[in-house]
Amino acid sequence: MSSVDVLADIEKHADAILRVCSYHRRDFDLVVVRSRPHDMRPVQASLQTAFETLPTAELGILGRLPAELMSMVLRELHVRSFFRFRQVNRRARVVSTGLWEYGLVSKHGLEGLRGLLRAELAHLFTIDDLYRSLITDKCLTCGGFGGLLFLFTAGRCCFDCLQSSAHYRVLPPSAFTKLTHISPGRLKRLSGPTLRTVPGIYNMMETPARRPRYLIFEEKATQTLQAIRAIGEDTIQHLRSRREQLGQRFMAATAYPCCSLNNAKLERGVSCKGCQAGLEVLRCDSDDRDRVFSTRGFLSHFSQCVEAQQLWTESEGGTRPVNEPELTRHCGYFNELGPDGLPA
Ligand SMILES: [Zn+2]
Ligand SMILES: [Zn+2]
Repeated sequence: MSSVDVLADIEKHADAILRVCSYHRRDFDLVVVRSRPHDMRPVQASLQTAFETLPTAELGILGRLPAELMSMVLRELHVRSFFRFRQVNRRARVVSTGLWEYGLVSKHGLEGLRGLLRAELAHLFTIDDLYRSLITDKCLTCGGFGGLLFLFTAGRCCFDCLQSSAHYRVLPPSAFTKLTHISPGRLKRLSGPTLRTVPGIYNMMETPARRPRYLIFEEKATQTLQAIRAIGEDTIQHLRSRREQLGQRFMAATAYPCCSLNNAKLERGVSCKGCQAGLEVLRCDSDDRDRVFSTRGFLSHFSQCVEAQQLWTESEGGTRPVNEPELTRHCGYFNELGPDGLPA
């Protein structure tokens, strides 16, 4: 295809190109903290709506605040306090449910909300923190599309950075105390937030990973301890050179879609079927098939990806099925999923 034809097709057939040439990597979602849909469904309605019965009680002195100030107060509450307030009475339920930021987070960012609560980190972040991460699609580390929420910071990250950037290093408190010779009690007081791990898969091989009960955020812990001179540069180097259990980083992240304020569309990230096809005949760079794009980013990639353009040509304008790789047909995950949407 000539570059003029490619650009014309992107202009005219963007949705069809995305359908034919891109796919969402389900295996990336399954390897991080994940809720079973049947656990989510019963709570979803109660999180997103107020009671049908009209409120009779008021909010006391808080009720005298103008609506705008009340919204500001609610946005500043950390998630745990926000839910406590929500349970005060039916009036509080109405007021909190009506908060725009909460509405969006409880509808589209439920996995992040639930992830923070399960990890016992909900007292560290506000609804506004989750909202701000929800409406951006950028990984805070590399600036590319980030489909995950790192629970220690409630910041968005991509799968690649989660695996490779030193910023996302985590480790169990026992390993930290062993490497730094700091007592567990002192570490608990000084190391910053501790994440309680939750059951999950946490590796691509689907063999159950050894899961420590708690994890700490290495960067934060070392910064705090270095600031008070509890550890020195040698100890930090010692920590950095240790071999990591990769699955432990997955225990500190969850899938987090991005919600566009421009068109209200939800993006989970897409990968290129063409790059996978190219890899299978050893014609393109092996890293490309693991890249995750926003839909806009994918269309830009499509304009350069010969293999994806071949798939598009084969589809005759999106009207015919294409001969795509088995891996993309299964969205990166070959095994059967159970009725709850998780591996059987
Ligand atoms: Zn990144
Ligand atoms: Zn490609």
